[in-house]
Parts: sequence; structure tokens; C-alpha cells
Amino acid sequence: MIADDVPTREPARLLVVDDEESVRSLVSTVLETLGGYDVDTAADGADAIDRLDGLPDGAPDLVVLDIMMPVTDGLTTLSWIRDHEYLYDLPVVMLTAKTGPGDEADGWQRGCDAYVAKPFDPEHLLEVVATTLAAGPELRIARRRERLREMLASPS
Ligand SMILES: [Mg+2]
Repeated sequence: MIADDVPTREPARLLVVDDEESVRSLVSTVLETLGGYDVDTAADGADAIDRLDGLPDGAPDLVVLDIMMPVTDGLTTLSWIRDHEYLYDLPVVMLTAKTGPGDEADGWQRGCDAYVAKPFDPEHLLEVVATTLAAGPELRIARRRERLREMLASPS
């Protein structure tokens, strides 16, 4: 059968990080059920860092990250990712109620790839996640180039 010859692609793997259980489960359900993604969750930034750290091969394809969280907030988590030896090029979508003029700027400055406001529209979130995943390879190459430039500029 022809169908047997069609290579099956693994669904993209996402890590959803939010301290509110209801939001975490709503976001996961939207991304799993409507988006067909493979979703893992973390309850705060520290939990996300624990999951991501030391697992470069097991890293997700994209992180959906809340900002206001206890223990370790989303912006700190984003900075940790961007400073990480292997994970620095991971695509990150901020999903947050912090939508003041300065808040988005903080996210962009620290290297997020997209910014979605809460309360979120499921279709919009799916669109942003799909677009960011599609741009993933390009985003990663740009970040690797940037890192290489930094290394060449300041050889240790
Ligand atoms: Mg929160």
C-alpha cells in the first residue's frame, strides 16, 4: 500500500510552563487535541529548568512560557535558556497576562520568539505556535551564527 511508504513524522514536542493548573491543562489540551502536538508540562520556571537541564537530546522543539510564576519566573527562565550551552537556540513563546508596554519589551529583549496575551484565543495560540515551529530552523541558525560571532569576537 502506498500509505506504508509515506514517512510518518513525529509530532513536535512542546513544554508548557505555567504555575496555574487550570491554565496549564487548558493550554495543553488545546495544543494536544487541536494542534496534535506532544505536550509536556512544568509548574514553574524552576521545574522547567530541571526538566530541560542536562537533557539536550530530550529537549522539546518549543517552550510555551508564562511570566508570573513563583520560585523562578518566566523571564528568568528565558534568560537561563538563552545563556545555556546547548539550549540557547530553543524557540520560546511567551504566554502571559503581563501585557503592559514594558512587559513585552522585556520579553523581546531577553530573546523570546513570540508573545501571546492572556486570556488567549486558542486559534491564535495554535497559529503562533505553528508559525514559530515552522520558523524554528531559521531562528536556530540565526542564534547559532550570533553565538559564533560572539565567540570569535572574544576568544578565551
Ligand atoms: Mg502565572
